[in-house]
Amino acid sequence: MSKFVSKRNISFMIKEIFDSKFLTDFDYYSRHNEKMFDMVIDAALKLAVKLMYPVLEKMDRNPPVLENGEVKVHKAVKKIMKEFGQGGWIASGFSEAHGGDQIPLIIRGTASFIFAASNYSATAYPELTAGAAELITSFGSKELIDTYVPKMLDGKWQGTMALTEPQAGSSLSDIITTAYPDENGHYKIKGVKTFISAGDHDGVENVIHLMLAKIENAPPGAKGISLFVVPKKRLDKKGHLVSNDITVASIYHKLGYRGAPAAELSMGEKDDCQGWLVGEENKGLIHMFQMMNDARILVGLASCAIASAAYYAALEYTEKRPQGRPVTQKDPLTKQIPIIEHADVKRMLLFQKSVVEGSLSLILQCCMYADLMKVSKGEEKEKYALLLDLLTPVAKAFPSEQGIFSTSTAIQCFGGYGYCEDFPVEQYLRDVRIHAIHEGTTGIQGMDLLGRKMVMKNGKAALLFMEEVKQTIKTAKEATELEYFAKELGKAMKELEKVAGFLFNVAGEKGIDVYLSDATLFLEFYSLIVISWQWLIQGIAAQKALSGNCSKKDTHFYNGKLFTMNYFFRYELPKAYSLAARLMDNDNLTVNMKTAYFKD
Ligand SMILES: Cc1cc2nc3c(=O)[nH]c(=O)nc-3n(C[C@H](O)[C@H](O)[C@H](O)COP(=O)(O)OP(=O)(O)OC[C@H]3O[C@@H](n4cnc5c(N)ncnc54)[C@H](O)[C@@H]3O)c2cc1C
Repeated sequence: MSKFVSKRNISFMIKEIFDSKFLTDFDYYSRHNEKMFDMVIDAALKLAVKLMYPVLEKMDRNPPVLENGEVKVHKAVKKIMKEFGQGGWIASGFSEAHGGDQIPLIIRGTASFIFAASNYSATAYPELTAGAAELITSFGSKELIDTYVPKMLDGKWQGTMALTEPQAGSSLSDIITTAYPDENGHYKIKGVKTFISAGDHDGVENVIHLMLAKIENAPPGAKGISLFVVPKKRLDKKGHLVSNDITVASIYHKLGYRGAPAAELSMGEKDDCQGWLVGEENKGLIHMFQMMNDARILVGLASCAIASAAYYAALEYTEKRPQGRPVTQKDPLTKQIPIIEHADVKRMLLFQKSVVEGSLSLILQCCMYADLMKVSKGEEKEKYALLLDLLTPVAKAFPSEQGIFSTSTAIQCFGGYGYCEDFPVEQYLRDVRIHAIHEGTTGIQGMDLLGRKMVMKNGKAALLFMEEVKQTIKTAKEATELEYFAKELGKAMKELEKVAGFLFNVAGEKGIDVYLSDATLFLEFYSLIVISWQWLIQGIAAQKALSGNCSKKDTHFYNGKLFTMNYFFRYELPKAYSLAARLMDNDNLTVNMKTAYFKD
């Protein structure tokens, strides 16, 4: 088994970068202490090694099948759901009032990172359940909470998010699944949902869908969407589970993420599918966004986790694989050197390390904002909420997109062997590919960032972000070794102001379609700056540690950090300037291109 995460890096992040123990000073987290956080991380590592990683390949090679209308999954799923339920992992982030442990997201998120690095498909089952249960506790009635949440947190019942329909993927306002009020105070549901992850399976007793539907005669578009609990099996008057008229029409045969089914579901074919309203009528999309925003952070986390596993597999391989000699050595009788000694292989490894550790840092930063948001009030609370909102599309899209290149680069490190099933990296590339698609494609994240987040509250979030970066630059300037990086990040921030100013003018002069036409490129540009900021934060901590007393091992670790920061600033950040040039080119090329010109 190759290593899939670095325990040393995890400790660096949660202790030296984010000093997460200070959260225990707040009442809400006060039952925890640093030792308990360490125990959570250690337990997650043990579970990942013992339960998840051993079935990584098996779950991929034996994907779910649909037999007699039932989805059969790998037998490990039952064990995993049981372990995650009984071990308290699904409930860990919930409030004590709902049977949880109130563990801060930065710690729970780190555990999720470890699980996803060991076996992403396996992680999806409990993570989806936690997200769905959280929606019920946030917006559901006491009756709904009491009926569903304990069984979900216990891992006995699966939770899903059922949004997508054949005609409504990115455009959820076009859903047509309909909820008809009935005389018993609940609703009859009719419609089709597609691609529903863990939408049906035999690893649990029941599946609870958190489903978007439109109440009959609701207003058109997003303003008419409501949220429902729609169980696969509902409880009858005697408390027995009976069928709720949901049929699995098919399951998809996917490129990767094969250990979990994506199902097409048909509700109400016998006019007997019942749903229960969660929260307010017509506020379903707003409620669902709570789960989607958390899910977007989790998707970023999972992408960087898979890229982490691929990186460590590549690292192990490149240290062992002898091939070629130094370019200065012409004698063919000398011994071959391990490929890690070649500069180009080091470049490939640095790229992967910079993506994995830069992404993880940003995601944990977002988790920290979420944790602080929960325990603060007034302006402070608003600040963390705005920063989290602004950075969520970056935390989702950068690891998802760069995770693809990073795992692909891991394959490149293996040469031909990486392309074959003998090593896990080909699976990692297939597994990571989904993340740029689900929970809002990268294109949708770009439009969210430029169209909503940059301008919300008159640009307040964007200004708060600038303040955060300025603070980091100021701290970095205190160490002469970091002056170059502080200067480069300052220069990039000036470029960001220029690009944003230019684009806001475009919106006024040429319209919103031109403004948003290169939103994905803006997201890429912005992400390079955001990740550089996170690398500078890591550089400051590494430089500080190196100036004190360090063991030889730690000296290597911190130098690794400084070299990787250096790599990101010199190889990746410069790409922001060519993106800026494109973003400030006024030619409207993609808007003006006609569909007819693509043909022939
Ligand atoms: C394995 C898997 C698991 C999934 N799990 C779930 C789940 O659990 N629950 C659930 O509800 N859904 C799930 N989905 C569905 C997923 O969220 C959708 O596939 C995704 O939102 C994209 O929708 P679509 O496939 O209809 O693509 P489309 O919306 O048709 O998009 C296709 C392309 O067009 C672009 N595009 C679309 N609209 C615009 C626009 N307005 N402007 C610019 N570009 C645009 C997109 O960016 C994309 O590149 C899953 C999908 C897969 C493949």
